[in-house]
Amino acid sequence: MTLPAGVERRTFDGTRGLATRGEPVYGEATADGWRHWDPHRSKLGAILEQGMETRVTDGDSVLYLGAANGTTVSHVADFAGPTYAVEFAPRPVRDLVAVARTRDRLFPLLKDARRPETYAHVVESGLDVIVQDVATRGQARVANVNRRFLADDGRLVIAIKARSEDVTRAPRAVFDDVLDTLADQYVVDATRRLEPFHDDHLAVVAHPR
Ligand code: SAM
Repeated sequence: MTLPAGVERRTFDGTRGLATRGEPVYGEATADGWRHWDPHRSKLGAILEQGMETRVTDGDSVLYLGAANGTTVSHVADFAGPTYAVEFAPRPVRDLVAVARTRDRLFPLLKDARRPETYAHVVESGLDVIVQDVATRGQARVANVNRRFLADDGRLVIAIKARSEDVTRAPRAVFDDVLDTLADQYVVDATRRLEPFHDDHLAVVAHPR
């Protein structure tokens, strides 16, 4: 597995873990300018920790959907190129704006990821990567409508939360349906469950159809 350039394994308090270089954001351990990327706090951190091949690397342009208060997207913006961070809840966006103060490639957008036409004038097209962690019903549709921003050789890295789609169904059945819908716009390269870091989540790496 290739870690993105700019993401390294470092030792924090005697324990090895993934790290990026940047200002701390969520009370994570730091050492020599590096900050621990906690896989329990971050789906993308768990994806990388588990060795999934994302083909994400330093300098990539990124659309991050479901940025919340910036825990994960802060790590992404530590090594990526322009990173557009979409979040529709105003309260976390306030924190996200603070996170962006020390990251000049991070652009917070208070927008609804189901309505890409509302940020298409800001977000460039031909992006290298979409990272999605929206934890809402219709996760595949969100990925599909945002495909327009991806380069033809771009990648989608998505964490699908089963309970956000339907709390009553078996996660495996939910994931099958989500993958079916994703197939409208993407070809799936790899899937992996995110236990023990995140229960009932499926990580998917895909590329545009
Ligand atoms: N990715 C974040 C991290 O690791 O730091 C955590 C994201 S949290 C699990 C899911 C977020 O998606 C919430 O902050 C929620 O407000 C946001 N969200 C849900 N639906 C959304 C939508 N349609 N547009 C934008 N954000 C959305």
